[in-house]
Amino acid sequence: MTVRMRHTRAHTGNRRSHHALQAPQISTCPNCSAPYMRHRMCPTCGTYRGREVVDMVAKKERSIERAKVKAKSRGLDVHEATEKAKEEATPTKKKSTATKAASKKAKK
Ligand SMILES: [Zn+2]
Repeated sequence: MTVRMRHTRAHTGNRRSHHALQAPQISTCPNCSAPYMRHRMCPTCGTYRGREVVDMVAKKERSIERAKVKAKSRGLDVHEATEKAKEEATPTKKKSTATKAASKKAKK
């Protein structure tokens, strides 16, 4: 596709009037009070609209297990890889709230 003709400044301005970026809509999770994107699952506790969608504890354990296997197959330090995977599984300092939320669910 080629540009057919030179546009007027007004035309260009009108087109560019829709080019502004918008900040993402961020809300706080009602379950663990961590920030999350609207219309998406909470990445910290794995709930959506008050319902648990993903078991985040199991997900974390799985990723650690996968890192262990990977480190073993590559002949790397397994302990170091495990620690790294643990850190990556909990991106924020919200680890304590996430585990609290999980324990709360276990009581129910
Ligand atoms: Zn949450």
